[in-house]
Amino acid sequence: MPTPLETLIARAIDLGLKSSLATPRAATLLASKNPSPEAAVIIRDSNQLTADYKACLKEIETAAPQQYASLRTQIVDQVRKAMKKQPGMRKWRCKVCNFLYDERIGMPKRQIPAATSFQDLPDSWECPDCDAGKDHFVLDQG
Ligand SMILES: [Zn+2]
Repeated sequence: MPTPLETLIARAIDLGLKSSLATPRAATLLASKNPSPEAAVIIRDSNQLTADYKACLKEIETAAPQQYASLRTQIVDQVRKAMKKQPGMRKWRCKVCNFLYDERIGMPKRQIPAATSFQDLPDSWECPDCDAGKDHFVLDQG
């Protein structure tokens, strides 16, 4: 059984990885002149992940103030390693309506976490815009 502190550390690493994956995309969208409503959701989710990550670090600091500095270094290190191991996150395009599924972002509003590969989506998954099945999606090369 992991101790509560170990559980917190694992959670921090997970959140750190997810926010690291989501943030660059959100930043790109933020920089674009006409952010779409979809962009606003992605930006909000990315901000939420970052906030959750920071809150988790704060909990660790409260739980283990003496060890916090070294724990934080370990966490940042683990997040970096996990980022390197991350297979290239890809985008998939709906052939029917051009909806884009971005693996880095997932669909947090539909309980699909960031960094969920297209293959890992349930077979029953459908395009949120036009209800086309997974077999109507193609890898987006753009
Ligand atoms: Zn579609």
